[in-house]
Amino acid sequence: MIKNYAYCILGAGLAGLSLAKSLKKVSNCSILIIDPNGIAGGASGSPIGLVNPATGRYANQTWNAEVAVETVKSNLEEISASTTKKFFKKTGIIRPAMDQKIARRMQENLESTDWPKNWVRWLSVNELENKFPKLENTDGGLWVKEGFTVAIPNYLTALADFLKEKDVDIIEHKSFELNKPDSSPDEFQNWSISFSDESTTIKAKNLIVTAGIKTKDFDFLKDLPLIPVKGQVSVYECEDEFPYDAAVSALGYFATLDGKTFVAGSTYEHKFEYEEPDDFGVEYISNRLLKVMPHLKGRIKLIDQWSGIRASTPDRMPIVGHHPDIRNCFVFAGLGSKGLLYSGFLSNIISLYFKNQGLIPDEVSIDRFSKG
Ligand SMILES: Cc1cc2nc3c(=O)[nH]c(=O)nc-3n(C[C@H](O)[C@H](O)[C@H](O)COP(=O)(O)OP(=O)(O)OC[C@H]3O[C@@H](n4cnc5c(N)ncnc54)[C@H](O)[C@@H]3O)c2cc1C
Repeated sequence: MIKNYAYCILGAGLAGLSLAKSLKKVSNCSILIIDPNGIAGGASGSPIGLVNPATGRYANQTWNAEVAVETVKSNLEEISASTTKKFFKKTGIIRPAMDQKIARRMQENLESTDWPKNWVRWLSVNELENKFPKLENTDGGLWVKEGFTVAIPNYLTALADFLKEKDVDIIEHKSFELNKPDSSPDEFQNWSISFSDESTTIKAKNLIVTAGIKTKDFDFLKDLPLIPVKGQVSVYECEDEFPYDAAVSALGYFATLDGKTFVAGSTYEHKFEYEEPDDFGVEYISNRLLKVMPHLKGRIKLIDQWSGIRASTPDRMPIVGHHPDIRNCFVFAGLGSKGLLYSGFLSNIISLYFKNQGLIPDEVSIDRFSKG
């Protein structure tokens, strides 16, 4: 039997599932998503992530922050309404300055950046102490009101269920064989996908690869400049409650949704020999955690560890666009450490592009690596 689809998306992480949602909304097309590891089987398996528009050591405003945050917020709210499970909260994010240089640079950034009204505010030492008692800081910190804490795998499980209701097919935990179409420019050939244990063959007009760092495993995408960066997190249980409702971002991030357990992360390992979490991760994270919240010493217990591999890029911007030679192959990868922030917003752009109603912005276009 042959089953035909307009789009076959490879990868059910933030990129693949967000894109399916946007495509379905923009044009009611047939979509199949395949993931041999299951929903959130890659970097999107991080138990908790932040939607943070003020990133990096000095809290720089991220690219297209306003529309990116508005999009993820609206996606989270929409998917949340389709399930009884709670997977996100508008917690806000406190970014205490850990030394004078950071405090100065953060304040300079704040003054020179045009932030949407009421999104961010500098807290003096006293204000910070009142709002976040015992949080280490030098000269105060940045309060990012428009920040969200998200249990990413739970969000994506709910998003996958939402998509299935909209007739998106999802095949998980099965390996498959992909047959590339001829790249003849005159002849449009479908992709063909087969599964070892099934008689059904899939035909797809367009292949969209959203396989995170594994995108490079496809021989026709092996030259993409995706850089693997391992990230580990530790999950702790608190003797009492986690002291703050807000997420904390300094020397890493520390965030809770249930008040009792919290996630502390993360490492940024450019050199690693295996993908699993290890003792290095625990030690690195706990050292940083106790620098920011020394009062938690002896009052928290490590209950779990997790690690994933981010797909970063040389300029730390995502890679979006058509394969230079295979015209019905499209790539959406390289989300680095901002997958939550960018996946929804870029998915909307890509969906409109497929409808000939927009362009891929130069900042993320795949062409920046294939030109010249
Ligand atoms: C520790 C850690 C903390 C993070 N914290 C944050 C945060 O706070 N905020 C934030 O915005 N971002 C955060 N990120 C980054 C974010 O998780 C990533 O940017 C995002 O998950 C990337 O999504 P993706 O869909 O591109 O890739 P992935 O999530 O890696 O998804 C790729 C999918 O493709 C599948 N796949 C693999 N091989 C194949 C194949 N051959 N065929 C089909 N499918 C395949 C995988 O199973 C996987 O499900 C964090 C990442 C890590 C590691």
